[in-house]
Amino acid sequence: MSDNGVNGKSARGDILIEVENLVKYFPVRGGLLQRVQAYVRAVDGVSFFVRKGETLGLVGESGCGKTTLGRSILRLIEPTSGEVRFEGKDIIGMRQSELKPMRRNMQIIFQDPFSSLDPRVPIGESIAEGLVIHNIGTKEERQEMVQDALQKVGLYPEHARRYPHEFSGGQRQRIGIARALVLQPKFIVCDEPVSALDVSIQSQVLNLLRRLQDEFGLTYLFIAHNLSVVEHISDRVAVMYLGKMVELASREELFRNPLHPYTLALMSAIPIPDPTVHRERIILKGDVPSPLNPPSGCRFHPRCPVAIDICSQIEPEFDEVSPGHWVACHRVSSAQP
Ligand code: SF4
Repeated sequence: MSDNGVNGKSARGDILIEVENLVKYFPVRGGLLQRVQAYVRAVDGVSFFVRKGETLGLVGESGCGKTTLGRSILRLIEPTSGEVRFEGKDIIGMRQSELKPMRRNMQIIFQDPFSSLDPRVPIGESIAEGLVIHNIGTKEERQEMVQDALQKVGLYPEHARRYPHEFSGGQRQRIGIARALVLQPKFIVCDEPVSALDVSIQSQVLNLLRRLQDEFGLTYLFIAHNLSVVEHISDRVAVMYLGKMVELASREELFRNPLHPYTLALMSAIPIPDPTVHRERIILKGDVPSPLNPPSGCRFHPRCPVAIDICSQIEPEFDEVSPGHWVACHRVSSAQP
């Protein structure tokens, strides 16, 4: 396997997070003795880095492993193997006691903030929870920090006393952002933070995330199932399919010159606002195969419109085909000089 960009040709810049060969398999148990009978290969050898202050968009269909990848990086679920380095320190091998102070720097925003807010607890207390866990400030100082975080996300300090049901979907997502922000993190995994919101609200939340990034130098891994959402917020975009990364490039390069057939299919589904411009939609055959038993060779081959013989036999390398542009496809690799 190539180094997947960890030591590639492109300039690496100032790296905050470096992920190397990350694997997460979920055991499937069955029978009388509940023995492990198979594994769901949710994330299967993924490597990439995120530079300080950038947004890496991570896109793919439901079930491709992107959410598992985001949570494994933070060790909200324990990876099976691989390395994650945060500011050069390997966090996978850390004991929980070593990990705790690091967690403050690495936060997550969920798709559905309502499910992570206790309906019986005023939102101010939910936002302050992380401060209590990390033993930050006195009670009064924590109240001030919560009010400050609420203002930063466009809410009012007095909202701290209200309960989750008193807010709209967009406001609840702002509360979710305030919860992450109050700890002054360096890195935030944004796990489909706008997928459940109306389109008009989506752009407000995306603009808020961008403004906070500029103001506080935040670094994001922004997960979405929709390329048009990541286009608006990402500096670079990674495309995942069935537990593997299949393409990664700067936003400009990916949208100007998509190379992987799966990326091309995702791209063809983006609506064009100009009715005079027609784009041929690439309809993929079949559903995403099960990660319990992924196809041999290139995992995309049963659905790929341009597959060749080798595709079902040999897994393509994730190669850097031009500076900063990585692709896992036999047709692309063989076409390069
Ligand atoms: Fe399609 Fe083959 Fe490329 Fe996979 S390796 S994307 S099957 S052409």
